[in-house]
Amino acid sequence: MNNVLSNRINNLSTSQTLAMAALARELKAQGKDIISLSLGEPDFNTPDFIKEAAKKAIDENYSTYTPVDGYVELKEAICRKFKRDNNLEYTPGNIVVSTGAKQSLYNVAQVMLNEGDEVILPAPYWVSYYEIIKLSGGVPVEVPTSVETDFKITPEQLEKAITPKTKMMWFSSPCNPSGSVYNREELTAIGKVLDKHPNIYIVSDEIYEHINFSGTFCSIASIPGLFDRTITVNGVAKAFAMTGWRIGYIGAPEFIAKACTKMQGQVTSGANSIAQRATITAVEADPSVLNNMVAAFKNRRDLVVGLAKEIPGLKINIPEGAFYLFPDVSSFFGKTLRGKMINNADDLSMYLLSEANVATVTGDAFGNPNCLRISYATSEDLLTEAFKRIKEALS
Ligand code: PMP
Ligand code: GLU
Repeated sequence: MNNVLSNRINNLSTSQTLAMAALARELKAQGKDIISLSLGEPDFNTPDFIKEAAKKAIDENYSTYTPVDGYVELKEAICRKFKRDNNLEYTPGNIVVSTGAKQSLYNVAQVMLNEGDEVILPAPYWVSYYEIIKLSGGVPVEVPTSVETDFKITPEQLEKAITPKTKMMWFSSPCNPSGSVYNREELTAIGKVLDKHPNIYIVSDEIYEHINFSGTFCSIASIPGLFDRTITVNGVAKAFAMTGWRIGYIGAPEFIAKACTKMQGQVTSGANSIAQRATITAVEADPSVLNNMVAAFKNRRDLVVGLAKEIPGLKINIPEGAFYLFPDVSSFFGKTLRGKMINNADDLSMYLLSEANVATVTGDAFGNPNCLRISYATSEDLLTEAFKRIKEALS
């Protein structure tokens, strides 16, 4: 049937995070004792005060179409959040609310990229950047990093990757999948390179902003000279345990925000009304309401780093944010484990699924074929059991 479907869809890869999560779910439904460390999704419930706001919104009949770019009260609340947390001065005309940060990213790609425009992706990058850029006619240009440099790019690497066709650079900090957090000095150094190339725009995906153990957070838009060419992407999925509510947003130069609004006016008509009302409460809340959840993620980070260090052959960085561990597993390539040849990270991920009943995601999907991504957004008991199984399967 491939000749019936468009080239666009035939050339699109399936989201590996969602595919692995679906496979793990299927195996569980068949009765297998699978521990899924594949999907990046908090295992907490959405806080009660946000749920109450949603219930109130239903009772108050927020049931009609919303403005395409989001309720003005929500956009104002997002502006106050950007000021409070990031020292960024956006006004409602800079804000577009969308159906998850994923759609925010998709809008930006669709409205900014022409056929052949290059987008620099420090690798590892979040799985969907690559395909969203491709789908929009752009050419992803990967800049590889490794565990030795905490998976961060250097200014020299960025400089080298820039060509006359470079339109944008996309990155996340804290990074999915490496957990790396760029500090102000590092972002300033990147800004110095970009100063020489004033036509390059930046997508800064800050969805893990609050799940950050490094003690500081810096938005690249706050680096002098970069505000007017940065699209700051954020959302409530991760920090407020609201993945299913599907609300993301951008702060961007007004002409880009207007273009994204025009795009989503033809595609979704805007994000869900009830979820938007609830999000007002979420973004207005003091981030200290997240302290317990963030502390739990930090304990789990410490736990999995300790457990991973006990497994010979895994090379790790210390993730400073998000909820992923991204071990380099290349020492297993070329080896035979329990009769199975391991050629690459895909093989190892499938091996761990079949032999250890633990679901992970191959690093290949994130632009680093030497690594595996392990989501530690699950209980300490399950993490301990999962690492025990991984250790046994790899020994
Ligand atoms: N960016 C990154 C780095 C993510 O990990 C995710 C997780 N899905 C998203 C964007 C998309 O977020 P949302 O669920 O709001 O679409
Ligand atoms: N962002 C999460 C992840 O990387 C959720 C899955 C997805 O949206 O692709 O696992």
